Amino acid sequence: MSASRHPALLSTDPELASFVAAEEVLQAQTLRLIPSENYVSAAVLEASGTVLQNKYSEGYPGRRYYEGQQNIDRVEALAIERAKGLFGVDHANVQPYSGSPANLAVYLAFAKPGDTVMGMALPMGGHLTHGWGVSATGSWFRGVQYGVRADTGLIDYDAVRDLALAERPKLIFCGGTALPRTIDFAAFAEIAREAGSILVADVAHIAGLIAGGAHPSPVDHVDVVSTTTHKTLRGPRGAMLMCREEHAKAIDKAVFPGLQGGPHNQTTAGIAVALHEAAQPSFTAYAHQVVANAKALAAALLQNGFDLVSGGTDNHLILIDLTGKDVPGKIAAKALDRAGIVVNYNTVPFDPRKPFDPSGVRIGTPSLTSRGLSTEHMPLVADWIARSVDAAAKGDERALAAIRAEVTDLMAAFPAPGLPLS
Ligand SMILES: *Cc1c(COP(=O)(O)O)cnc(C)c1O
Repeated sequence: MSASRHPALLSTDPELASFVAAEEVLQAQTLRLIPSENYVSAAVLEASGTVLQNKYSEGYPGRRYYEGQQNIDRVEALAIERAKGLFGVDHANVQPYSGSPANLAVYLAFAKPGDTVMGMALPMGGHLTHGWGVSATGSWFRGVQYGVRADTGLIDYDAVRDLALAERPKLIFCGGTALPRTIDFAAFAEIAREAGSILVADVAHIAGLIAGGAHPSPVDHVDVVSTTTHKTLRGPRGAMLMCREEHAKAIDKAVFPGLQGGPHNQTTAGIAVALHEAAQPSFTAYAHQVVANAKALAAALLQNGFDLVSGGTDNHLILIDLTGKDVPGKIAAKALDRAGIVVNYNTVPFDPRKPFDPSGVRIGTPSLTSRGLSTEHMPLVADWIARSVDAAAKGDERALAAIRAEVTDLMAAFPAPGLPLS
C-alpha cells in the first residue's frame, strides 16, 4: 500500500521495499503494547534518513579528527544543547550507539575489570547491562544483584543498602526494564553516598516521562544518567549519557575514543528533533496521558481477574503475572500476537518458570498513547487481552481472529505518527 513512499528503494530493491511496506502495515494495524517501543514522528523519521549518514566525524563539536564538519558540528551541538535544556543537566553526550554501549561506556569511565558493580537482577526487572552474568558487564566485572520484595513486588531499599555496604561496589545502577513503579532516586543516592559508589540512573524506559514531568527526575541525585532515545522519549534508536561537569571528561573519553568510532550523525539529527518535540507542551500532555492510560489499563486488567506485579503501575508499564492462570507467558504472548496485540513474554519476580518460558507478559502504553487512544479505550484493551488469554487456554483460533478484526478496526481510526494512512 505504501511502497510508493520509498520510490528509489522500490526500484532498486523491490524485495527489501516489500518488507518495509509490510512492516508499515503491521505497525499500522496492530495494537503495539511493548513498553520499550513507540512511533517516532514523521519529522524524526525524515531527520534519521538524511545525507548526514555520509559523514565521518570522530571527536566532538569543534574537536574533530576529520574536516568538513561545518554542518555536523551544528547538528550535534544543537542536540547537546536541547538535551541539557530538557533534562537540566550540565553535560550531555549524544553519541552512544544505543543503550547497551552507553552503559558500557559508564563502566569504562569509572571501573576496572574485576571491580564489583551492583544492579537489579534481570529476572527482577533489571537490565542485562547492570552486571548480569551473560552480559559482558557481568563477566568482565563482578556483578552483585538486588531485587524486589516477595510480598509487595517493590524494590527492597533495606536490602539494597545492606548489600551496598557489604560489597562497596564501584558502580550502582538503578532503573530497569520491567519496573512498574516510581524509582526513589533520593533513597538510592543516600545508599550510594554511604557505600562510596558512583550512582547511575538508567532511565531508558522512562526518559520521556521524566522529560514530560510524569516521573521524578534523577538529575539532582545521581552521578550519571544513562538513557536510550527510542522508548518513551520517542526518538530514533540511540542513547545519551548526561552528568555534572565533574564527570564530563570521563564520560566523553569513554564514549570516544574509549568505546566507539564515528558517531551516527543521522541519528544525532533525529535525536535533536525528538528533543525539540519533547520540549513542547504537547509532549508534557503526552507523558501524563501515557501514565493515565497505564493506570486505567491496570485497573481494567485487575477487574478482569489478572494479577499484576506490585498490584498496578505508577508509570507506562504493567507486568501481568499469569502464574495463577492456565496459560504461561510465552503461549499468551504468541496468542495475543495472533490477535493483533503485540506484547513480550517476561519473567516475573520469583518466577517458578524458566526465563525462556516465563510466567509473565509485559505491556505498556507509550505506543497506543502516541496514536491518541485514551483512558476510555482501556477497558476494551483489557477485555481483548482477557479474551485472548482465554482463547489461548482453549486453543480457540477463531476467537483470536475475531479479536484481530476488532483491533484492526479501532487502529484504523487512530492513525500512527510517521506511518501512511491505512
Ligand atoms: C532498553 C534498555 C537498555 C538497552 O538499550 P538498547 O538500546 O537495547 O541497547 C538499557 N537499559 C535499560 C534499563 C533499558 O530498558
